[in-house]
Amino acid sequence: MIQAKAYAAQNPETDLAPWDFERREVGPHDVQLEILFCGVCHSDLHQIKNEWFSGIFPMVPGHEIVGKVIKVGDHVKKFNSGDLAGVGCMVDSCQVCENCKDGLEQYCLEGNTQTYNNKGRDGVPTYGGYSNTIVVREEFVLHISDKLPLAATAPLLCAGITTYSPLRHWKVGKGHKLAILGLGGLGHMGVKFGAAFGAEVTVLSTSPSKEAEAKALGAHHFVVTSDPEQLKAVTGSFDFILDTVSAEHDMNLYLSLLRTNGTLIGVGVPSQPYSVHPFSLLAGRKSMAGSGIGGIPETQEMLDFCAEHNIVSDIEIIDIKDITASYARMLKGDVRYRFVIDMATL
Ligand code: NAP
Ligand code: ZN
Repeated sequence: MIQAKAYAAQNPETDLAPWDFERREVGPHDVQLEILFCGVCHSDLHQIKNEWFSGIFPMVPGHEIVGKVIKVGDHVKKFNSGDLAGVGCMVDSCQVCENCKDGLEQYCLEGNTQTYNNKGRDGVPTYGGYSNTIVVREEFVLHISDKLPLAATAPLLCAGITTYSPLRHWKVGKGHKLAILGLGGLGHMGVKFGAAFGAEVTVLSTSPSKEAEAKALGAHHFVVTSDPEQLKAVTGSFDFILDTVSAEHDMNLYLSLLRTNGTLIGVGVPSQPYSVHPFSLLAGRKSMAGSGIGGIPETQEMLDFCAEHNIVSDIEIIDIKDITASYARMLKGDVRYRFVIDMATL
């Protein structure tokens, strides 16, 4: 077994703290990474606090992983020691169902294996990226360009693909009015991709202080959602709303901002179910949809697109011992716009 170091939550009530554990040996189809940076997703906080479901503890969060390949199995074809590589939210899937064959491993009919807070197909719990090393089967490892700053690339593995994938699926681009609801880790990537795809982008935010930054990220307009006048001005106006909000919010209000035939795409995962009035959808033939991360081929496509168009996340690099304080800031919407752990501080 490989000795690994990490920060883990021992249960939902305690703060993360150092923890030593074992990873499996590198098998013939595995790649071992030295983890250099790991992004901090709001999903990490939801899961260590058991906000979605009862978690598997000790829990090592982290699914925005970038690093260097340090060992490859005998049958590995796509990676060599020394390569830069990344791992996102999944580390395995059945590989044979129709969704896996379509490159939609996140919707594997047997269920994908999440990078942490899940059990692998061997029954062993998975542990994420707040760690010095990880072993992952080759098919779930991504190539990372050396053209981009590495730390700022880490959030692409979750925040990036989770916003890229729905915008591509719904073919959002020129001629569309796109609203990004919530300007956090996911939201700021949604702004960058929406603008890169040619949409007219509006940020809908609870934080007036983010206006100038939103525009610097590529947004054309900024609306403070607590201001009734500003909301009135955009009512019935958007073709798409990409909803990245992590907490409960009034879905009927935001559906009213869609134009006829508009679509609200939910990617944020508040802990409670949405409450939607039928009239909010039928008046104007509106749609409400959801989207989960993205498959492996599309994640690689997104990484290559980012390398070509010089797109990365706006980040604040943190020491791992500051993780609890960083979660507190994230909860207040006070991140510009993604915390990334420098794993050398572990
Ligand atoms: P984040 O950085 O904390 O951003 C969330 C943003 O939502 C905040 O910055 C804030 O933006 C806004 N917000 C927070 N509380 C709000 C409230 N009560 N009402 C209205 N707006 C509020 O979080 P993240 O990492 O981007 O993740 C966002 C959500 O997506 C989380 O629930 C996460 O679990 C989920 N997620 C889903 C997937 C998927 O596959 N679908 C993948 C990754 C993450 P403003 O300050 O601009 O209002
Ligand atoms: Zn995430």
